[in-house]
Amino acid sequence: MDTQTTSTTAAAPKGQRRIANIYSAFQTLGKPVFSFEIFPPKGDLTQEQAADVGGQLAQLYPDFISVTFSAGGSGSHGRAADATVSVAQLLQDQFGVPALAHLTCANTTREHLDAVCEDMKARGIENVLALRGDLREDSELHEFRLAVDLIAYLKDKGFCVGAAAYPEGHIDCADPRANIDHLKSKQDAGADFFVTQLFFQNSYAYAFLDEARARGVTLPISFGVMPFMSKSQVQRMVFMCGASLPSPIVKILAHYENDPVALEQAGVEYACRQLVDLAAHGVDGLHVYTMNRPAVARAVKQELDAASLVRG
Ligand code: FAD
Repeated sequence: MDTQTTSTTAAAPKGQRRIANIYSAFQTLGKPVFSFEIFPPKGDLTQEQAADVGGQLAQLYPDFISVTFSAGGSGSHGRAADATVSVAQLLQDQFGVPALAHLTCANTTREHLDAVCEDMKARGIENVLALRGDLREDSELHEFRLAVDLIAYLKDKGFCVGAAAYPEGHIDCADPRANIDHLKSKQDAGADFFVTQLFFQNSYAYAFLDEARARGVTLPISFGVMPFMSKSQVQRMVFMCGASLPSPIVKILAHYENDPVALEQAGVEYACRQLVDLAAHGVDGLHVYTMNRPAVARAVKQELDAASLVRG
């Protein structure tokens, strides 16, 4: 372990590991909380590779790293929870970075979630992003039908709880007013902070933020930005989460279609412009969907450091 990692560990006292406390500390600093997201071992990705990505991201001094939950059909929830919690534990214990473990509640029972919570407690996980998870044809909903059910349950168990927010609305929710109602109900159920779905146009984030604040949502909100890499990746995101595709991105994708290196560079630059603008707007947090690509994370962090926009 290098000295940089050791000093990161020493600088993160246990009390600061609750992400709600990190937001409070940063409000007085006047800088946004800065976080990355990684995904745990699945398919071809081994535990060693995930650990390597975690280590490289930790060296960029994020304020926390969230670890996704690979929800599958019934029966795979236990394996997915173990993969997520293992990476979250490694980030905290080996690299000293507060971790946010994602957890979904579709396709599982209270009895199973009790066991997952016990395991998370035993492994020092304090922060959980409470999600319903996407529904598939074979999905089963038991006691937990919506994220609010999981939020109240996790809060009761003493976790610091994050929840999902959707600047352009959830793909299954056509009514913008209901979108904010659902957000408020997550706050009322005990959530401590929000992390948003990705979006490519900041005007959606600002309109959503204004509406949420006007309607009594007071919790910190981290806004999610994804540096895009390829046309197929953008298409997948647009269809999966309903993000609008502004014409500058369409033009970039068309222009660099046959030059993947230039396209990746353009994707990082576009994301950085979004992040700089969000920071200037005074948002509580910036969450970067780096998709296990440390080089992209490094490029983004360098840009933000150069502008002194986040904690160096
Ligand atoms: P909910 O808030 O329960 O919403 C589900 C649907 O019900 C929405 O359409 C919502 O509008 C609607 N709704 C909410 N409340 C009510 C109500 N009171 N009455 C009627 N309708 C209501 N998925 C994964 O599988 N793994 C991950 O790691 C993961 N990470 C994510 C991280 C972030 C930051 C985000 C934004 C999403 C993530 N997702 C992940 C995707 C998420 O699981 C899906 O978007 C899922 O379809 C909804 O999850 P939710 O927690 O927002 O659910």
